[in-house]
Amino acid sequence: MSIQTSDPNDVSESIKSLSLIAAHSHITGLGLDGNLQPLESSNGMVGQLKARRAAGVILKMVQNGTIAGRAVLVAGPPSTGKTALAMGLSKSLGSNVPFTAIASSEIFSLEVSKTEALTQAFRKSIGIRIKEETELIEGEVVEIQIDRSITGGHKQGKLTIKTTDMETIYELGNKMIDGLTKEKVLAGDVISIDKASGKITKLGRSFARSRDYDAMGADTKFVQCPEGELQKRKTVVHTVSLHEIDVINSRTQGFLALFTGDTGEIRSEVRDQINTKVAEWKEEGKAEIVPGVLFIDEVHMLDIECFSFINRALEDEFAPIVIMATNRGISKTRGTNYKSPHGLPADLLDRSIIITTGSYSEQEIKTILAIRAQEEEVEVAEDAMDLLTKIGTETSLRYSSNLISTSQQIAIRRSGDSSAKVEVADIKRAYLLFLDSGRSVKFLQENKSQYID
Ligand code: ATP
Repeated sequence: MSIQTSDPNDVSESIKSLSLIAAHSHITGLGLDGNLQPLESSNGMVGQLKARRAAGVILKMVQNGTIAGRAVLVAGPPSTGKTALAMGLSKSLGSNVPFTAIASSEIFSLEVSKTEALTQAFRKSIGIRIKEETELIEGEVVEIQIDRSITGGHKQGKLTIKTTDMETIYELGNKMIDGLTKEKVLAGDVISIDKASGKITKLGRSFARSRDYDAMGADTKFVQCPEGELQKRKTVVHTVSLHEIDVINSRTQGFLALFTGDTGEIRSEVRDQINTKVAEWKEEGKAEIVPGVLFIDEVHMLDIECFSFINRALEDEFAPIVIMATNRGISKTRGTNYKSPHGLPADLLDRSIIITTGSYSEQEIKTILAIRAQEEEVEVAEDAMDLLTKIGTETSLRYSSNLISTSQQIAIRRSGDSSAKVEVADIKRAYLLFLDSGRSVKFLQENKSQYID
């Protein structure tokens, strides 16, 4: 069986998780120092020091490969940064580490069985780093391109020598001028680049005598296309998820399902074959398994069958790092008559490392809101920011964070200026137009007779 992998640049169905992730776009890591101690505000993360310190320990365990078979449970009130923490951990693991976020209710709303939906979520969170070795033939034609950018007022040149399957980049300093040309050269050729005109001239392989260089003058730059290097093998690495490999190789679905997200059930034989193949690649040193992060929000919404599935899946050779979040205390485990902490069955709870998050101080809320405003490129007046913070302390961080974009729209309409600064009046209007959960409950109670129970 030959297994196909997708183009690593595909956007595919990760778009579906976008809404869960967009609110956390300001988070670039856990904000820890070299000793894994949390900084007050770093990498977009603010406060929540105890939870971040604990996440740092987990990060270390993941890096040392000692987390296998366990899950992380983040427990805390709504809007206290549970998702943010999972995102920060995933970012700290590196940019090629997959992060999948699901809300537990999604598992029940898809057109596939609960366990299939969970399997797909697990396999989306496993990256396969595939190494492909390419061989270059002696004397192969290479192409030279100049890619110019302007840095600090200087024109800079980058010389890229390209073959079909490799790239070597030479920095040319910051004196390159317009009008650079493209030319085909052979490995081992010497080229000259006139610094004034940027013109590239091919001088052939024999142009290696120093007096020839001298004759061209100081305004000419010489580059010898590195013969040895171009003939070397070059390793190309790309990362795809196990789920992407499943979909592409599933005859019933075909790779287009990656775009629609409509993958349906994938046969277990397909997955078994892929697991065997990937294990083979790993053995041969062609592939590396990169466990990513699977974040399961509102985990108390899952039922006992899902929990048993997770218990088993954590033992799997291809298990990702599972981070579950809940804002429930003692509650009933769905599908049973038992009550347990966070609604999780005892055996799963037993395997979990539990981190708790707590409420924020006013200053922390203010800092987070300022970071969000900057991330959304919204300018907020100082007194408006104070009001937003006050609303945040009295309602929730998420509600006040959402007011940033709604009040910006109100500010734009008020002033007719698309870059209008958000003022106190705009926040007040947005607050009156959009209810937070507390006022929404009150409203429903007062108008009970008009709603269907
Ligand atoms: P819920 O229980 O409702 O799912 P949650 O605990 O997962 O909530 P988040 O969604 O992580 O809360 O937080 C709400 C918003 O505040 C998000 O935009 C998040 O990125 C931001 N946020 C929360 N905590 C922090 C923090 N410590 N530093 C920076 N941003 C944060």
